[in-house]
Amino acid sequence: MATPLIEVEHVAKVYRMGDVDVHALRDVSLAIADGESVAVMGPSGSGKSTLMNILGCLDRPTAGAYRLAGEEVSSMDRNALAGVRNRTLGFVFQSFNLLARTSALENVELPLLYAGVSGRERHRRARAALEQVGLGDRIHHHPNQMSGGQQQRVAVARALVTRPRLMVADEPTGNLDSRTSIEIMALFQELGRSGITLLLVTHEPDIARYASRVVVMRDGLVQTDRQQEPLVADVAAAVAGRP
Ligand code: ADP
Ligand code: MG
Repeated sequence: MATPLIEVEHVAKVYRMGDVDVHALRDVSLAIADGESVAVMGPSGSGKSTLMNILGCLDRPTAGAYRLAGEEVSSMDRNALAGVRNRTLGFVFQSFNLLARTSALENVELPLLYAGVSGRERHRRARAALEQVGLGDRIHHHPNQMSGGQQQRVAVARALVTRPRLMVADEPTGNLDSRTSIEIMALFQELGRSGITLLLVTHEPDIARYASRVVVMRDGLVQTDRQQEPLVADVAAAVAGRP
């Protein structure tokens, strides 16, 4: 087997709260290959966000090893982690996190601005990313002129524009109706076909069906981890089945 994109070995995370240790992750080991789409499920407080923060290089484990694309990231300092994030990762959140008074195009250009990409190139790549998510005709719209689904597409374009290998999405359909959720899953599946790996937290079994693997967390441990034949997100059927 080729080296997995993600290799987590005996990762633990302890938060110190005054005199109390909170064991958010107890002992998690996972290997995730390039191109997999993994839905992380489990009850509130089971450690999903803690795991995503570590896998997304936003936080470091208290113990254990984490190799991302062959690089040991568990012991990196903040600057080095920021570098890995910029090179390798894209993030999508439940609440879109777009700048309100800024066009879709400028929102998507932002990560490239931070990366020091020139103005012309920023514009070209941001436009291409918006076209890729089906918003080529909305690039000058502001978030408040768009539906929730369109705003989440802008957020996906913003995550895509730096050409990440790994997309980390924490409840990306949590604020969307079911039809729009399926549209976003269709978009993720399209990105998957281009080779992007997806990690997604969801509470909805209906959404997890579109992933190729489901990891269920419980009390800081992986309770179950299974591969599945993903449902293909069919936008036309979702529209037809609408009440
Ligand atoms: P989930 O996302 O599955 O709801 P979390 O990863 O957010 O779970 O939390 C796992 C456990 O760790 C919970 O008991 C939570 O209260 C605790 N926890 C999460 N983040 C922190 C933090 N920054 N400080 C202290 N405790 C935390
Ligand atoms: Mg959470």
